[in-house]
Amino acid sequence: MNSPEQTLSIIKPDAVERNLIEDIKSIFIQNNLSIKDNKKIHITKEEAAEFYKVHQSKPFYNDLCSYLSSGPIVVLILEGEDAISKNRKLMGATDPKNAKENTIRKLYGISIDKNSVHGSDSAENAKKEIEFFFKN
Ligand code: UDP
Ligand code: MG
Repeated sequence: MNSPEQTLSIIKPDAVERNLIEDIKSIFIQNNLSIKDNKKIHITKEEAAEFYKVHQSKPFYNDLCSYLSSGPIVVLILEGEDAISKNRKLMGATDPKNAKENTIRKLYGISIDKNSVHGSDSAENAKKEIEFFFKN
């Protein structure tokens, strides 16, 4: 049996604005991901730019950073067996149009940019992203 992993989730502004925090948290809990820590914050565009630095060459980078800093978000540390890949599965495809039934993005996502949640995509990024929000 694998040891539990941790991953970073973000409930994005579009979901916070629509009061979906508890609905999204309950999906994690029902799927055996425990919430080790979480907080509601409002980051600056500069912080968003740092967080999404891997995307700095993409055409959507500027809008993405404006969006993530446009309102309150909830950042969460999720823990459980295969937490990183499990969270990615629960989230669904980046574009809600392509997301499978019952995934968070299918249920709640509005568009490819307002897609309700972020989730770390690798062990390396999970560690970096958790440190970004929780370790100072
Ligand atoms: N994004 C966007 N337009 C695109 C692709 C991505 O606005 O054409 C946004 C979207 O909010 C996505 C984020 O940029 O969640 C990061 O993109 P990534 O490819 O890492 O998708 P994710 O890992 O979030 O599924
Ligand atoms: Mg990504």
